Amino acid sequence: MSQNHLQIKRADVVLAVLVLLAAAALFLCGRLRGYGTSADYVIVRVDDAEYGRYPLSQATVVKIETPYGTNELTIQNGTAYVTDANCSGGDCMHMSPVTAQGGTIICLPHHVTITSASGNSGMDVLAQ
Ligand SMILES: [Zn+2]
Repeated sequence: MSQNHLQIKRADVVLAVLVLLAAAALFLCGRLRGYGTSADYVIVRVDDAEYGRYPLSQATVVKIETPYGTNELTIQNGTAYVTDANCSGGDCMHMSPVTAQGGTIICLPHHVTITSASGNSGMDVLAQ
């Protein structure tokens, strides 16, 4: 009788551990999903209007044609940066790349801003 009682108790403990593990797994999955989608692409704006958005995970070269000139945006290894521009000075080609962690590239002469998707506070916590 007492052995039976012990077995039930052990089953309860196992169940509790399984529930905790499931909760932890769900929590981690949720965080990973948020990591993957929330700030995983860059948004290009011209004159504050969205020109396009491009996934950081996909290597590509985007020609940004504006009424003021052309910028070439290169996305590689999870970073986005301007590799060519016919603006005066070419400051945008020397700016820090945009990554999932953040960053902004601005080409003032061409009215172009390049940012990563914002709004994921979890990312900010991880970055600190
Ligand atoms: Zn520029």
